[in-house]
Amino acid sequence: MIKELVHDPIFLGGRSETASAADLPSAADLLDTLTAHRETCVGMAANMIGVRRRIIALLDESGRAPVYTVMLTPEILRADGEYETEEGCLSLLGGPRKCRRYKSIKVRYQTVEFKERIKTYTGFTAQIIQHEIDHCNGVLI
Ligand SMILES: [Zn+2]
Repeated sequence: MIKELVHDPIFLGGRSETASAADLPSAADLLDTLTAHRETCVGMAANMIGVRRRIIALLDESGRAPVYTVMLTPEILRADGEYETEEGCLSLLGGPRKCRRYKSIKVRYQTVEFKERIKTYTGFTAQIIQHEIDHCNGVLI
């Protein structure tokens, strides 16, 4: 189900909790909401739709074809190659803001089947994942 986006900075500034099987409907809602905003958005965290769980959805361009992916309780294990960039966010008003990211990140997460995955991402997909994990930690660009 497509959900309304949250813009309240106090709510968005809170840390999200570990995702469980009870949160799978929220994960589906997050994916629906992300794809509804596909023209302007490539990633979302669950708190952006009012759910304080560590769930992110993103357009993963690391494979042969772009694919929408959901990650439960994602965690960055390693980060290399810091650089400065600018990002926008649907939860924030105004234009892009400066931030620091890493070119390559190693991420551990669970799939919606609760299978653990560890994968290294680079480039734009890595950037999206870092932005969304920041949301899970209550960090806005
Ligand atoms: Zn954002």
